[in-house]
Amino acid sequence: MIVVKVGGSAGIDYDAVCADLATRWKAGEKLILVHGGSGETNRVAEALGHPPKFVTSPSGYTSRFTDRQTLEIFEMVYCGKINKGIVERLQRLGVNAVGLSGLDGRIFEGRHKDSVRAVENGKVKILRGDHTGTVEKVNTGLIELLLGAGYLPVLTPPASSYEGVAINVDGDRAAAALAVALKAEALLLLSNVPGLLRAYPDEASLIRQIPADDVESYLEFAQDRMKKKVLGAAEAVAGGVKRVIFGDARAGQPITAALDGAGTVVS
Ligand code: ADP
Repeated sequence: MIVVKVGGSAGIDYDAVCADLATRWKAGEKLILVHGGSGETNRVAEALGHPPKFVTSPSGYTSRFTDRQTLEIFEMVYCGKINKGIVERLQRLGVNAVGLSGLDGRIFEGRHKDSVRAVENGKVKILRGDHTGTVEKVNTGLIELLLGAGYLPVLTPPASSYEGVAINVDGDRAAAALAVALKAEALLLLSNVPGLLRAYPDEASLIRQIPADDVESYLEFAQDRMKKKVLGAAEAVAGGVKRVIFGDARAGQPITAALDGAGTVVS
């Protein structure tokens, strides 16, 4: 089993990812796709007059503040436009894909964090009404049912809180939790960069190999959202996934290239 997470940043070639996925699926490989959609969500939120609000925690992590209206826009884009666009591509390629969010069948479940500590103008403030959380539990029943019946699951945030409230969760860490729960042999985190760069944005500074027992010390190279990928990789290898690969989804055969060792390999 291979879990592929594809991001939502500018430049990602979904046609290339889907074509590669379809070829491997038809050859008999078991795969699950998890996707993001942050770039498109930001555009739609702007267009709807409810621009995204990002907050920085005291420890330096940037995250989206998700009020109820933002959550609804998030669902429109992630579960609607992006998810169905991927499912349509796969169907056209002859793969019987099924698109689901983490709410469906409670595939992704976790604690709802209603308030967030944020640094604003040098002061720490508490912001309430946030619909975010972290995946703590993956309920694999529905996924196994689908895989057993020959369907390829295409999964996306949000997740469900323990109370059944939709929560925005990080897609990379959700994919990591999924890979652990399914005992996947590899987790691919595909984005619009060649991998983890030592001197971002210099693409020649690609880090090729990270030892599985030392992932956290590479956090210093990752800025902003790349940090979540490094954290996700650390969680996946700690949970028994043998290989996590940060790969490039901008062209070519992104899955095959990553599995062949292009990008940053954590093992
Ligand atoms: P996605 O939505 O595709 O999953 P993110 O935007 O969440 O991806 O994270 C990937 C982004 O992280 C890259 O596009 C890049 O701008 C940024 N980044 C920050 N630091 C690094 C780094 N050291 N190496 C590679 N990318 C980095």
